[in-house]
Amino acid sequence: MATNFGAYEAVIGLEVHAQLLTRTKAFCGCTASFGDPPNTHTCPVCLGLPGALPVLNGEAVRMAVAASLALGCTIQQHSVFARKNYFYPDLPKGYQLSQYELPLALSGFLEFDVEGEPKRGRILRVHMEEDAGKNMHGQGNASIVDLNRAGTPLIEIVGEPDLRSPAEAAEYMRRLRDILMFIGVNDGNLEQGSFRCDANVSVRKIGEERLGTRVELKNINSFKFVADAIEVEIRRQITLVEGGGRVHQQTRGYNPERRETFLLRDKEDVADYRYFPDPDLPPLDLDEVFIDAVRAALPELPSPKRRRFVEGMGLSAYAAGVMTAHPRIAGFFEEAALLHGDPVKVANFVQSEVLRDARTTGLSATFPVTPAQVASLLRLVDEGTISGKQAKEVFTAMAGSGQDPADIVRERGMAVLDDAVALEGMARELLAANPKQVEAYRSGKTALLGYFVGQMMKRTGGSASPAVVNEVLLRLLGSPT
Ligand code: ADP
Ligand code: MG
Ligand code: ZN
Repeated sequence: MATNFGAYEAVIGLEVHAQLLTRTKAFCGCTASFGDPPNTHTCPVCLGLPGALPVLNGEAVRMAVAASLALGCTIQQHSVFARKNYFYPDLPKGYQLSQYELPLALSGFLEFDVEGEPKRGRILRVHMEEDAGKNMHGQGNASIVDLNRAGTPLIEIVGEPDLRSPAEAAEYMRRLRDILMFIGVNDGNLEQGSFRCDANVSVRKIGEERLGTRVELKNINSFKFVADAIEVEIRRQITLVEGGGRVHQQTRGYNPERRETFLLRDKEDVADYRYFPDPDLPPLDLDEVFIDAVRAALPELPSPKRRRFVEGMGLSAYAAGVMTAHPRIAGFFEEAALLHGDPVKVANFVQSEVLRDARTTGLSATFPVTPAQVASLLRLVDEGTISGKQAKEVFTAMAGSGQDPADIVRERGMAVLDDAVALEGMARELLAANPKQVEAYRSGKTALLGYFVGQMMKRTGGSASPAVVNEVLLRLLGSPT
């Protein structure tokens, strides 16, 4: 392992919160959307007004079950929503609805590679809960609370403390995000907070069985910072212990500029939340038929997809990784490969040309061309109509135009001219117009061949096949004396 902590070993367990992409919130009919004017998606339920009753969103349940199954978890057919009581301005009810003692799903796992080493991170549980609102500071001299996000459905994926380095934690998080995005339940946006991670970090002497006291690093909102924050915290704890001190169970934040973690609060005890089952929501009881239906509807997951791209289509592991970097990229590639027939050629072209101008935002993506255009363009190259180099020119011309590449080739007169009869006619005209050069060539100045080839290229706008031109000219000029 690249990270070396001397006599110490790091132990890391991640808690990931992922917003489910439902149309409406978890317990009311308000639209779940990001970026609208504050408090435009609220109702008595998500405002926590007295007497308002929650009704669980079936689509949220379906998505949570899909995610749990994709993570290899066992679905608990009976789960219960509890009230997690605490006071904060962004939580108008005074409690968060969250599955606690009886969660939706148990014991899954994630498999990934770190520096070529296969690694498995077990998942303790997946449970459903609702998000809080957002406090917005610096609105004039006041702060406001935006409750648009309050009550949007989340799943929390609690990992076992199986990770041993910052790189493993980052890779675990990436693979988890991939899975949720490929099954379409989460948009994977760390900056906007729809995919959030808390990292629990402790250290212990190598060989020690007992876990050390953990610190929880809160809300790290980029992949780069996950690894950095964990690394910095591990080193802080080791220094502390080495100096004869003791790690205190705390919640800490990370300051990327100073590369330091800082105390947010001493960790609250579970008892502080006074969890109890919500009396307004019946237990969530799922039958096997429903669970099986969700399982049957799961799309192919990213890692089997990568394996299929390598083993079934002949892509390199690297190319397969690029083609599965995003669900829409994978879809684009597969469609083009199916239409064209040679996945390796298609992957090369998608990688070198298409992805340069492709943009992904959340679960959607825009491409400069369609898969059908890519397939037709590569077919023109296969047939020898245009060269690989010309293909790039045609690609640039067709980007954003929706035009058929064959039309572009025709319009621009780009097709390779290899009709020997037509070229011979042109060559005769050329030689007739240049009797002096012809005579010079025939008396031994063979370097003039280059001049004639150049003139032929000029007359054909560069589209003549050099091989055919050479052959025709040599034949007409005859051997020099
Ligand atoms: P809480 O809600 O209090 O944070 P949870 O049980 O929900 O408690 O989460 C515990 C998380 O902390 C899990 O992801 C687990 O893997 C991790 N964890 C538990 N003990 C340790 C430890 N000693 N070192 C590192 N991570 C730990
Ligand atoms: Mg926690
Ligand atoms: Zn509402």
